[in-house]
Amino acid sequence: QNKLLRCEKMASVKVAVRVRPFNQREIDMDAKLIIQMNGKKTGILNSKANTRDESIRYKEFTFDYSYWSHDDDSEEFASQEQVYKDLGTEVVDCAFQGYNACVFAYGQTGSGKTYTMMGSSDSQGLIPRICKALFERMAEDSKRGTTHRVQVSYLEIYQEKVADLLRGRDTTSLKVREHPKRGPYVQGLTTCLVTHYGHIQECMNRGNSHRTTAATNMNDVSSRSHAIFTITFVQAGYCDGVPSETVSKIHLVDLAGSERADTTGATGQRLKEGAHINKSLVTLGSVISALAELSIESHGQKKFFIPYRDSVLTWLLKDSLGGNSKTIMIAAISPADCNYGETLSTLRYANRAK
Ligand code: ADP
Ligand code: MG
Repeated sequence: QNKLLRCEKMASVKVAVRVRPFNQREIDMDAKLIIQMNGKKTGILNSKANTRDESIRYKEFTFDYSYWSHDDDSEEFASQEQVYKDLGTEVVDCAFQGYNACVFAYGQTGSGKTYTMMGSSDSQGLIPRICKALFERMAEDSKRGTTHRVQVSYLEIYQEKVADLLRGRDTTSLKVREHPKRGPYVQGLTTCLVTHYGHIQECMNRGNSHRTTAATNMNDVSSRSHAIFTITFVQAGYCDGVPSETVSKIHLVDLAGSERADTTGATGQRLKEGAHINKSLVTLGSVISALAELSIESHGQKKFFIPYRDSVLTWLLKDSLGGNSKTIMIAAISPADCNYGETLSTLRYANRAK
């Protein structure tokens, strides 16, 4: 029986959606654009629906941000810089105020999760931009006598098992334990003390090269695992002459592809993986939507039970989901008609989270 945890504090959840450009495959098949955005609204057109019923042909959702990254000649175009300005700076502010934060990228394989989190070789994503800003602000603060310590770890959850991405090609899975005061942790996980941005970048690159990938019909190489890059940020100074330390954690999570097993032609092992991946994603959805409901409730006076323990992902992030933590969900979507089903399911998942 899972132990359910009582969450009484007010939580804050923000949800963004981002649509990418057509990829080569979509261009080759002459795909149609089925996504529209207007301010905070994202609409999806079912081009195959054989009906005049508008509520079936067109569905619209409102999010905190709807990012149009489809064509860069559009006035509405949302660049990596824009996404960082809206969401990344909030995470950095949170950390300096001593709070924890989680950023999740959700969506089917090939929808732009890794592009949004890590970026590409010529355009950095949220993770490197957040790291850079942290070090810049630390340099400012240290002029006022605060000292800082930054540690990073990078892990992967694959089939509900935890692997250390900073340790090399080591496949032994690590145990998740729960400390009575400090909460859940991964036993034996590598943590690197980093002193400058280049150092953190090295860790990122090392971990990225170790991510488990496998070929599926959907995409040449697809991520079947959840990757969590964690920055532990310690600020030390004096409060009324007494030495004090503030610890904050930032978890940056590139989730596994959300596609249903059947659309990728999965059988056997792949299908088993799909079932596990879904378990973590389903639990994450439930946890975040419970937290979102909590923040709508009048200052969280009502008590909710949050099913953190139902998956390794949510259990590990328990202390950074809810309470006074900031949670950001970015749903990455394809613009093309051929992905209608997956995109609609991603929008619904994101809609539940707000
Ligand atoms: P995922 O991690 O969800 O599987 P990726 O982030 O690897 O997907 O994106 C798939 C491809 O689409 C990559 O080549 C990536 O560079 C490109 N891409 C994704 N999002 C964008 C975007 N917003 N702008 C430009 N290219 C993008
Ligand atoms: Mg990816």
